[in-house]
Amino acid sequence: MQADNGVGMDVRDHARLAFPRSLPEFQRLFPDDAACAAYLEKSRWDGGFVCPHCQMGGEPFRFDNRRGVLRCRQCRKNTGLTVGTVMERSHTPLSVWYWAAYLVASQTQGMSAVQFQRQLGLTRYETAFGILHKLRAGMVRPDQDRIGARVGEHVEVDETYVGGKTRGEGRGVHHKTLVAAAVEVRHRKPGTAQDNRKDGRYAGRVRLAVAPDRSAESLCKFVGSAVMPGTLLVTDDWSAYGGLRARGYDHHAIAECGDPDVAEEFLPISHLVFSNLKTWLNGIHHGVSAKHLQAYLNEFTFRFNRRFYPFNAFRSLLGIAGDTTAPTYAQLYSGEWEHPRCSGYGS
Ligand SMILES: [Zn+2]
Repeated sequence: MQADNGVGMDVRDHARLAFPRSLPEFQRLFPDDAACAAYLEKSRWDGGFVCPHCQMGGEPFRFDNRRGVLRCRQCRKNTGLTVGTVMERSHTPLSVWYWAAYLVASQTQGMSAVQFQRQLGLTRYETAFGILHKLRAGMVRPDQDRIGARVGEHVEVDETYVGGKTRGEGRGVHHKTLVAAAVEVRHRKPGTAQDNRKDGRYAGRVRLAVAPDRSAESLCKFVGSAVMPGTLLVTDDWSAYGGLRARGYDHHAIAECGDPDVAEEFLPISHLVFSNLKTWLNGIHHGVSAKHLQAYLNEFTFRFNRRFYPFNAFRSLLGIAGDTTAPTYAQLYSGEWEHPRCSGYGS
């Protein structure tokens, strides 16, 4: 059965896979589960289905009631379309997953599990929570590269405590968790409209990780996982950063960073990132638990690093673009699942 949506925009007609850029375009591309399955199939086998069991090419058997399964005409074995994506083993229809990825990718602030449950009309909160966390797993590439190493640019490294009101525990209960950040500092071309703000400096890519403590071992390990050696790093004069030079970095420590004016002058971009992060955690998610904070840092990083290209996020979220393993709901709640961090830091 071909999915015929009647508007001449069937996904099979696209030479390259399209990204939806608006709600009407999303509706035309993904009117139903069949269209979602076709998109998934095309993203895996651009030149047509090849059976992974017997390597035979050619049209497989398809089933109207099982859109996620293709059966080889030669060896009769089934192949799951969602294997290796964040949708693997999920009972949620493909169309719901696609709506979710679209909403998460296109809304600059993202959304809470409650908002998401309401928008999609899902019966169970746990389903909404699970889908969002699985999409977050698609936000960190396993081979994520380290930032920095760009000529004429430096990287600010700083740490802050994140915490505050946790839902259901009443006012005044604080759970402070240490978060380390590395942010590329770029410069606008002189004479452009925005080059007067912060001396024309603005943030390039960012890496964020939950850090166990403020020790030299912990912070230098974070830097090692997040930033390319040889990069000029700017930090405050906290002694833990003293070992960075020995680890192959060019290091500039700013004295008297306890003074807010000095910190604003020399570490303005990381302060901006921390301020945005805290506003986002409290405003959208009303505070998050320490256990899941890394997942939210991953989401923040994902949005931040793609803020100039919001729609390119769609396929990486679904895990169609690369291999991502996603947690089950039980793993998320038992703590068995560890949210991925930049370059395996902390594992
Ligand atoms: Zn086969």
